[in-house]
Amino acid sequence: MMRPELRLDSSVFRANIAAVRDRLGDSALMLVLKDDAYGHGLRWAVETALEAGVTAFGSYDVRGGLDVRRIAGGAVSVFAWATSTDEEIDEALLQDIELGIGTVEYLRRVVARAGVLGVRARVHLKIDTGLHRNGVRPEDWPAAVAEARAAERSGSLALVGIWSHIAEASDAEDDDAQAVFLDAVRETGASGAVPAALHLTASAASWWRPELRGTVSRIGAFCYGIRSADGPELDGVRPAASLGAPVVRLDGDCAVVAVGSLDGLPSTLAGMPVGTPAGPRVANAVELATTTVAGWPGMAVGDEVTVFGPGVHGEETATTLAERIDTVGEEILTRLGPRIRRRVVE
Ligand SMILES: *Cc1c(COP(=O)(O)O)cnc(C)c1O
Repeated sequence: MMRPELRLDSSVFRANIAAVRDRLGDSALMLVLKDDAYGHGLRWAVETALEAGVTAFGSYDVRGGLDVRRIAGGAVSVFAWATSTDEEIDEALLQDIELGIGTVEYLRRVVARAGVLGVRARVHLKIDTGLHRNGVRPEDWPAAVAEARAAERSGSLALVGIWSHIAEASDAEDDDAQAVFLDAVRETGASGAVPAALHLTASAASWWRPELRGTVSRIGAFCYGIRSADGPELDGVRPAASLGAPVVRLDGDCAVVAVGSLDGLPSTLAGMPVGTPAGPRVANAVELATTTVAGWPGMAVGDEVTVFGPGVHGEETATTLAERIDTVGEEILTRLGPRIRRRVVE
């Protein structure tokens, strides 16, 4: 190996999924796959998750949702929540992608396209519970639900979910968000059946605040083994990916390793510990195409350095590295460029 590699450990990913599902209890897992499955690669993530029994997937946009459908086939549910063009709506409806809808304008477009295509759109209506990103404001909720109910009666829509996204910044804010969410669920129930999929929480809140969980939990980070920045360790969850790079040259007391900032490794990580055959060593500098690491006895070209991973060679996790530069573990993974080969090891 003379190139950097992101090693994907399928058994760890499957074990993480099992640990998350255990923790979720009655709340069903929707595995979130945005950003090319958090940098791990969509195909591997979907295929491995299918082996682990996952039946519901969440993709940010319709494009990604269609990719999931192609990989996973027709037996799973796929949810895409980004507001989309009419062309994308058409493809989504024809491929049975469930759509997250956060505005009445988008609701009308989806209903119109479903009418034209003669299909029933499966939608999850989003209530704005305080983030003010996307979502129907509470004062507009009854009117939005009335439109959805009318479209249900005309055969062009099935309201299958109510959802929102919470900040996970403070327990008090999340409690307030849940109260708004539950009000919206109650109001919806007054005009017909309450949809089966009620979802509010992502990794951290689903794990640590069981009382906030709905019937579904949308989980990305923890399934990949990425814990929250500045958050506690997670029982039964380990990083599924590790970044390895070969020593390409020796420079005095240092080893020069073939991965650098052009590969997406932030140069501000200089000073981080990395894993070597002799245990942890400091990476003194992250240059464009290489990283310079304090040497070890007997080091040689071709030796392997682990930049981040589960800790087997003394390396830290993506989240621990992220904490050094005030970001989140997801960011370390999703920035990794295409020059880094993804290789399944297990
Ligand atoms: C990213 C995302 C998630 C998953 O968040 P994690 O913290 O990675 O579990 C869930 N829902 C939405 C809307 C998201 O954007």
